[in-house]
Amino acid sequence: MIRGMPVSLALIIVCPAFTLGMDLPHENAVPGGVKIIRLDSAGSAMPYVDSDGHRALVVEDGSTWVAVIGIPLSAPLGKRLVIAHGAGGRREIEFLVGDKRYASQSLKVAPAQVNLSAADLARVNEEKIRIDQALRRWTEPPPDSLRMPQPVAGPHSSSFGMRRVFNGESRNPHSGMDIAAPSGTPVLVPIAGTVVDTGEYFFNGNTVFVDHGRGLISMYCHLSAVDVQPGQRLTAGTRIGAVGMTGRATGPHLHWGLSLNRAWVDPELFLP
Ligand SMILES: [Zn+2]
Repeated sequence: MIRGMPVSLALIIVCPAFTLGMDLPHENAVPGGVKIIRLDSAGSAMPYVDSDGHRALVVEDGSTWVAVIGIPLSAPLGKRLVIAHGAGGRREIEFLVGDKRYASQSLKVAPAQVNLSAADLARVNEEKIRIDQALRRWTEPPPDSLRMPQPVAGPHSSSFGMRRVFNGESRNPHSGMDIAAPSGTPVLVPIAGTVVDTGEYFFNGNTVFVDHGRGLISMYCHLSAVDVQPGQRLTAGTRIGAVGMTGRATGPHLHWGLSLNRAWVDPELFLP
């Protein structure tokens, strides 16, 4: 502190990032987590940051550019590389992915939802392509904020990343947050965005995808109703649908997914 200076003024001088910056998510550099990298890249042009061939989210925080990297659940532990292209040229940035031991979860569902018929398998493969198209988007402007409330009030499980065993058979890990709420409870988009796609999916049921900008895409699944259409602009808090249990669900809940640079990340890191 500078002697004789009023406390409030001293804080402004010491912490310019807090007055000008964006709310960043909690950092947790583990599979399914987020790594925050301050890019020592001066200038007004936003650096291009590549993570596994996918453009990463970059935002201004005070006077610096900051990359917010999604780490895939499938990422190996140890060294991981992103490539930044900025005013100073091409730069490789290395960071460490730490271990996180995700627990295992056993669930019982209808047999036809685990061992799929040929027709269902073909449908699921088509849907994967469509989901991938939604997640690949990278648009402007940037997200309003990288901290956001839950899309629906209610207790949420901490089951992100859990290895899942359906009827005794291993399947993909859980890639979102499940929030329990009665069927029909309104689901509100937590920050502004544009509806990318809506549809009825085999596992996810009635689903809405929202693009929040710069590669941050959110997904809302198992809805009993969908109230929005592709292309629609949404302000924060707009109702997009209602909680349900369509698709593969054992009870009414919202599955909330958040994707950064094409990687599902733990929504808990983005809560206020
Ligand atoms: Zn879920």
